[in-house]
Amino acid sequence: MDDLFLKIIDRQIPADIIFEDDQVIAFNDISPQAPTHFLVVPKKRIPTLNDITDEDRLVVGHMVQTAASLAQQMGFAADGYRTVFNCNEHGGQTVYHIHLHVLGGKPMGWPPYQETLKQPVAQ
Ligand code: AMP
Repeated sequence: MDDLFLKIIDRQIPADIIFEDDQVIAFNDISPQAPTHFLVVPKKRIPTLNDITDEDRLVVGHMVQTAASLAQQMGFAADGYRTVFNCNEHGGQTVYHIHLHVLGGKPMGWPPYQETLKQPVAQ
């Protein structure tokens, strides 16, 4: 099993870790898309959101609470921030171990999807 985030959890590869407890780890994204961009990752391997079971409810809730708590500690909670779970190909998931993106430090755009198909030009 080739799981990049398990390797970070096991300290086999380095990461800029900002928080860790018995259930989750949080580290800065290697390719930040905002002034602050970190990932909250469960220590249990769950490949995608589609694989979450009833027994994962507590850890997924803890991921969200950790994101909010870190945003508060880092001083951008009141201004606001974006949290994102990408799922599978259409969601843009590239690492198959669930993770919550936390992006802050500037206003975020919305919506994330823009129609790129060109409409026929009226004659
Ligand atoms: P996703 O595309 O939603 O699966 O997000 C995967 C994220 O992991 C991307 O934002 C990557 O920049 C990030 N990433 C990949 N490798 C590393 C790494 N070694 N350390 C920190 N973040 C990483």
